[in-house]
Amino acid sequence: MKTRTKFIFVTGGVVSSLGKGIATASIGRLLIARNYRVTCMKLDPYINVDPGTMSPFQHGEVYVTDDGAETDLDLGHYERFIHTNMGRRNNATTGQIYYSVITRERRGDYLGKTVQVIPHITDEIKRRILAVAEGDEKFDVVLVEVGGTVGDIESQPFLEAIRQFGLERAPEDVLYIHLTLVPFIKSSGEIKTKPTQHSVMKLREIGLQPDVLLCRTENSLSKEARDKIALFCSLRSEMVINARDVESIYEVPLLYEEDGLGDKICSRLGLKAKEPDLGGWINFVRKVKEPSAYVRIAICGKYTNLHDSYKSIVEAFVHAGVENDAKVELKWLFADSMNGDNIDQHLRDVSGLLIPGGFGERGIEGKIAAIRYARENDMPFFGICLGLQCAVIEFVRHVCGMAEANSTEFNPSTADPVIDLMETQVDVTQKGGTMRLGQYRCVIKPDTFLHAAYKTGAVSERHRHRYEFNNSYRDRIEEKGMVISGINPETNLVEAIELPDHLWFVGVQFHPELKSRALNAHPLFRDFVRASLSYKNPRKQSEGEEFDEDR
Ligand code: GLN
Repeated sequence: MKTRTKFIFVTGGVVSSLGKGIATASIGRLLIARNYRVTCMKLDPYINVDPGTMSPFQHGEVYVTDDGAETDLDLGHYERFIHTNMGRRNNATTGQIYYSVITRERRGDYLGKTVQVIPHITDEIKRRILAVAEGDEKFDVVLVEVGGTVGDIESQPFLEAIRQFGLERAPEDVLYIHLTLVPFIKSSGEIKTKPTQHSVMKLREIGLQPDVLLCRTENSLSKEARDKIALFCSLRSEMVINARDVESIYEVPLLYEEDGLGDKICSRLGLKAKEPDLGGWINFVRKVKEPSAYVRIAICGKYTNLHDSYKSIVEAFVHAGVENDAKVELKWLFADSMNGDNIDQHLRDVSGLLIPGGFGERGIEGKIAAIRYARENDMPFFGICLGLQCAVIEFVRHVCGMAEANSTEFNPSTADPVIDLMETQVDVTQKGGTMRLGQYRCVIKPDTFLHAAYKTGAVSERHRHRYEFNNSYRDRIEEKGMVISGINPETNLVEAIELPDHLWFVGVQFHPELKSRALNAHPLFRDFVRASLSYKNPRKQSEGEEFDEDR
């Protein structure tokens, strides 16, 4: 029997950073486990059209989809948890919504009318939510996460729109879930339900009554606490769900399932109850929590004091760790404070080096020093985007002997621009949404690390960059032993490089971390971790020196 698409709205209250994205993705996983077709959407209240123009320090990672949208990092959680690809339409911002409405107003579509938040902005929000459900693919459930915290001025039009949305559909087709905090006050030894009561009051002020409350707590909620929250917030006690702190974000779906959330949602939405298949997930979580081995890998970047800037890389290491039955411990290195003189001190206790993507000149020399160390000490190296570019610069400077080699991003007048602006980028003046974005093909050379990982002749991976490997240096670089292992067949752009005589040394122009999934680790991360597990640093003085700190 064909069911109508159901909509679940997830809002957040009390404080930000409670993990609404993880909560949304986890609910998605519970429904996927019941064989429902699920997708997610994020509504972002900020006025930027997309996060592409925001600093990683402000916003964390910019997540890129196959179709080249620069989106919120929560879309990464969705993809990693529900294994369904997101696209441009799965993220809408206030900026985009006003942009559409104002464009229509200029065209004359509203002639004679005053254009207002209600109904014109709210109509556009509702239209975008429906567009997710009515795309080429059919979904049983669309989960819509509303960014921000209830009470924020910016999120009001979104809350108003989802209120109207509920009124316009059958009650069994729409469910509202609210994520709140139930803090534990040490001095009195009690948990406090008041912030949750106030947050729900705020929701009710605008006409939204939550059907389910997800209560973040340090420890499980007692029966009394649940009853009290239920009474004050006007819902049944079994709809107050324990969302206690857990060790790994991947445990969250299992935590919700313990409380019967999957069945409760299905029953409330009139979806047939099904036995969930969570076997693979349970196994995955067990391996995350009980690894057989440890390996320490350094990430050397510019935004390393905000780990959210590298969210997908961090998660890709969790997935790849599980594939190797190991836990990857990340050592964060701030590229600015590194140089050829102190590099040994930073890298002697790690078994692998990853240089992630990034923009601008700051920290580049530190990264190049780190890559040189990895190359000369046969330490596994993985360069992503800017990481590939730095590896090429390092190789040309120190192996090909062109000491001034650089990227024109860092030195526009360099004598040897081994990394240069793409031709298509030369006349670009507008910054937003104009990089080489989204999925492009990469043809893989046989007998390379790349081929050993992917085990196929061609892949598609996601991109976000303006600069590229300068093909006029290709012969000179290959002559000295660097192998071009991936090429985009349409443009001849270099997609991957490697050093074949090395234990594992790979640079890719794309962002493989964006396609790593919980139960389907990315092959390049998997092989990088495997190589790092087998690495012995010749400079390390004694065994046992590893892992004696931060554990
Ligand atoms: N800044 C570099 C470029 O634009 C690398 C970008 C990245 O690492 N995402 O090409």
